[in-house]
Amino acid sequence: MKIRVFTAILVCKVIRCLAKLMGRGSSLPGKYALKICPDILSCLKLPELSIAVTGSNGKTSTVEMIAHVLKNNGLSVAYNKEGSNQIEGVVTFLIGDSTMGGKVKSDVVLLEADERYSRHIFKYFHPKYFVINNLYRDQMTRNGHPEFIKSIIGQAIYDDMTLILNADDPLVASFGKGREGTIYFGADNLPTDVKTHEGIYDDGKYCPICKSPMEYEYYHYNHIGKFRCTSCGFARHDTDHALTSTQETADGKASVTIDNKYNIPVFFSGIYHCYNILAAFTASAAAGIDPAKAAEALGGYILKSGRISDFTLGKTEGRLLLSKHENSVSYDRSIDVVVKDKRKKSVMFIVDAISRKYYTSDSSWLWDIDFEKLKSADIDRIILAGQYCDDLAVRFDLAGIDSGKIKVFELVTDAAEYCRNDLDSFLYVITCFSDKEKILSEVTRRELA
Ligand SMILES: [Zn+2]
Repeated sequence: MKIRVFTAILVCKVIRCLAKLMGRGSSLPGKYALKICPDILSCLKLPELSIAVTGSNGKTSTVEMIAHVLKNNGLSVAYNKEGSNQIEGVVTFLIGDSTMGGKVKSDVVLLEADERYSRHIFKYFHPKYFVINNLYRDQMTRNGHPEFIKSIIGQAIYDDMTLILNADDPLVASFGKGREGTIYFGADNLPTDVKTHEGIYDDGKYCPICKSPMEYEYYHYNHIGKFRCTSCGFARHDTDHALTSTQETADGKASVTIDNKYNIPVFFSGIYHCYNILAAFTASAAAGIDPAKAAEALGGYILKSGRISDFTLGKTEGRLLLSKHENSVSYDRSIDVVVKDKRKKSVMFIVDAISRKYYTSDSSWLWDIDFEKLKSADIDRIILAGQYCDDLAVRFDLAGIDSGKIKVFELVTDAAEYCRNDLDSFLYVITCFSDKEKILSEVTRRELA
């Protein structure tokens, strides 16, 4: 072994230990290792089974679910649970799991890979399976348009990888064109599907291969559905694993069925939430886990997690639907949940810090969200809160929503106070990770039943 490699591993491990002692997890150890040995990733001995996951939404959830299934089935898994998905973070967690000789000890390496950094990471090693879940408009000041991200991910794909692709997302599915052995997952035609496109913009309008107009037999949501190019023949691929139905009982218990036989209890049967489960199921099955056992593990896990918090605020009962700022698809899906609820309900939108990781004051993404849907829904009050409450107010004004229903508060605490004292309806709160604690610190959380 080269002294350079040994030194990089040693330095990485020592700094990692020190950082842990100080209670800090970071990608600093990997940064130093890369300074000493820039190609350290290609010097590590990885296990035969490695899985990488990328996409605009749901990477962390999908990776956590796959890890849970694999561990539940007796495999040891190394993965970037600290969430650092750029090259320094990947080096940190892989060396953290390796011997001094650079051999990764776990049975499986599982990688949450940043859409833009996969091409740098995979220069040095190729995962056996590469899961690509979705490509949405997301953090556009940082990422640009999804088609640009598609071209960047394309640079991370090599012939020796097996792709696991969302068949219902045309941009994602186009990676499989001409590649034998690609594995596809997707949803069958469901009662909640629509025949015509809904939303402010349509990223499925043109074929990602030849740019001709596309036709859809049905849409699950936004540009996700059964598509076909009118010119080159590119069309939704048959699936290896499919979401075949969703169920919701009168008492609110929901479940989804995969491949007509594997039933998985979930909090929400909304299809948007199901793609991560389906991706995790498909990757686990590809990794050799018995599908029935994968479904069983997923059911147990999903019951414990979820990105929904129920709460009470004074007399008001409510539910937080975690969405993503700078990501209109996630907002559209949360708005769908509100619109479908038949109770007397209100909704609060909080945009205070657009990102917790970097500074941006760009609010153009608010114009991509289909707030117009709230117009026809019977909404009691609409509460707009946070530093960007006026941007929201302008957007709602242009959406033509009755201004008599709208309350605007710059401080989330004032918005909470209003709801505590003056609201007489179920309250949905739609916001992002970066702002959720600002409302959760004002409420009493309730365990999800
Ligand atoms: Zn085409």
